[in-house]
Amino acid sequence: MITAPARSTTWPIYAYCEAVTGLTASHGRSPFDPQRGRGIRTRLHSLRLPGAAALDAAFEVTVLIENLTDTTPASVWALFLDVDGTLLDFAAQPHRVVVAPGLPALLARLLRGFDGGLALVSGRPISALDRLFAPYRFPAAGIHGLERRDAAGRWHFTGLAPGALQPARHVLSAAVQNHPELLLEDKGRSLALHYRQAPALAGAALEAARAALAALPPEAHLQPGRFVVEIKSGAADKGTAIAQFMDEAPFSGRVPVMIGDDLTDEDGFACVEARGGHAIEVGSATSASGPAPRRRARLASPSALRAWLQDIAAGLADEAAAREVRP
Ligand SMILES: [Mg+2]
Repeated sequence: MITAPARSTTWPIYAYCEAVTGLTASHGRSPFDPQRGRGIRTRLHSLRLPGAAALDAAFEVTVLIENLTDTTPASVWALFLDVDGTLLDFAAQPHRVVVAPGLPALLARLLRGFDGGLALVSGRPISALDRLFAPYRFPAAGIHGLERRDAAGRWHFTGLAPGALQPARHVLSAAVQNHPELLLEDKGRSLALHYRQAPALAGAALEAARAALAALPPEAHLQPGRFVVEIKSGAADKGTAIAQFMDEAPFSGRVPVMIGDDLTDEDGFACVEARGGHAIEVGSATSASGPAPRRRARLASPSALRAWLQDIAAGLADEAAAREVRP
């Protein structure tokens, strides 16, 4: 049974289900109409198309997301959040990203509201995440899982040490000298070559990255992303990082929800889906150069995600207040 939520926190997800079924559940941010919602669910069942289970799962996500704020204890959920392109809008260069005012404090409220069940899962080093979200330090996986700070504050590292990447560093630095529009981001345990400022240089960037890769041990591999190609160890990815969090308190036993925007998030999506959790994409499909797109719940933009997280935080505060007044 679908119940009408106090607030419509999930309008982008409803919009997604509306697009799939051709039915209307809500308009803009107006309250969700439960009668129309039942119609959508009936239509999802009646479609009987290949992939209908995925469609139904998508609708399940809409109910799930209502539950995140309205009916289910927050301690059921484990929230894993990518950062660039998900929580933050992209900038021309990684160091120019702007953190929306209040976002660090909002994440801190969510961390408390979910009883510690929240972690950042990013391609950035954790030190960079700490600078972005100061003064807060969140449980986090950095450099796509090659480093991790667990909920108890312990650090874990895997993959090639920074010194082992030196031969690749030389090759990529030479490429940047030839093409000054390219940007080499040295993360220590990985090297990211950005071509966001000159998309026409995608081929040159890939060629340089392949040449750099050839100078490294076999465990190194290329990780493509949006306007970037990165060289890193294959010893970890966002999926392995989430799996490690899920084996530890306070995450273990919860339902994982991963929110991301890029090819590198696919490993995280696969991990949470294999554990009975849910993947939510932000922005357009991640699959321009990757596997065929899957039908997933989707939020339109980082600002839509931030608005949704605000609503969740408000819901958690309501829940906490209700607990306090209960005898
Ligand atoms: Mg991202």
